[in-house]
Amino acid sequence: MGRRVSETEPPDAPLSPGLYIVATPIGNLGDITLRAVETLRRCDGVACEDTRVTGKLLKHLGISKPLWRYDDHAGPRDRERLVESIRSRAMVLVSDAGTPLVSDPGYRLVNAVRQEGLPVTVIPGACAAVAGLTLSGLPNDRFLFAGFLPVKDKSRADVLASLSGIDATIVFYETAPRLVKSLTAIAAAMPYREVAVARELTKLHEECRRGLPAGLIAWYEAHPPKGEIVLLVGPPVDHGHEEIDPDALLRAALAEAKPSQAAAQVAKATGMDRRDLYARAMELQKG
Ligand code: SAM
Repeated sequence: MGRRVSETEPPDAPLSPGLYIVATPIGNLGDITLRAVETLRRCDGVACEDTRVTGKLLKHLGISKPLWRYDDHAGPRDRERLVESIRSRAMVLVSDAGTPLVSDPGYRLVNAVRQEGLPVTVIPGACAAVAGLTLSGLPNDRFLFAGFLPVKDKSRADVLASLSGIDATIVFYETAPRLVKSLTAIAAAMPYREVAVARELTKLHEECRRGLPAGLIAWYEAHPPKGEIVLLVGPPVDHGHEEIDPDALLRAALAEAKPSQAAAQVAKATGMDRRDLYARAMELQKG
């Protein structure tokens, strides 16, 4: 285990002082790692966003530890108190779910601990962005994590415009009530990109739908989504130049739709003739 927890140490020996950044599951509790459990069992305290959420996880693991609140509202004094405690204690940092610091609190704390020259180590595990990327099957040789899109229409459009030239899959965190608005903004900024909606990852109703923005808007307007969402936008179809490749668009749409629907989506996105697209979609489907 990083800095350490060696194989020769007794399993319940206290950990050496420092900050331990521990990832926790994003839904399925089976996704906690062995190192995470061991670290939680042997630490002196756990800094967490919500003591009820982390209390439940610890109870599930049969572990009882002092919980310190460290959330988005934490200020310099909360950090100082934690940094002081880390001089003599092994403190774990978790967030409600997934990897701390990834759209979650901890960035300033990690830097404060580093500045004091105190030890920091990481116990990696579940992260919704990576789970969504891998499940989507979109190109993953290059990807950009872009966090949550802004709520305001203008700011959201500006962010999408600034990202539209990037030759990589873009990964966003999203909420169910805002999904259609974000898809609509993506349809305006990047209508020809393949998009994936990865929902309820690792949970009972896990699903991943892929298609063009126009098709996904129609689907989610008819089937309002619930739960947690990772929204992914594939790279430009022609690697940087927004020229239209109808075959690539049709193939993307055909992943989730019948030829008639795929033709309608691509026609709406490109202004091309729907009947021509339908004929081509039938050919592509035959292979
Ligand atoms: N730090 C966390 C991580 O590493 O996964 C993410 C925290 S962020 C505040 C919460 C967002 O992550 C949600 O709004 C959603 O976009 C995404 N998310 C978390 N769990 C998810 C899940 N099970 N399925 C899909 N998205 C999820």
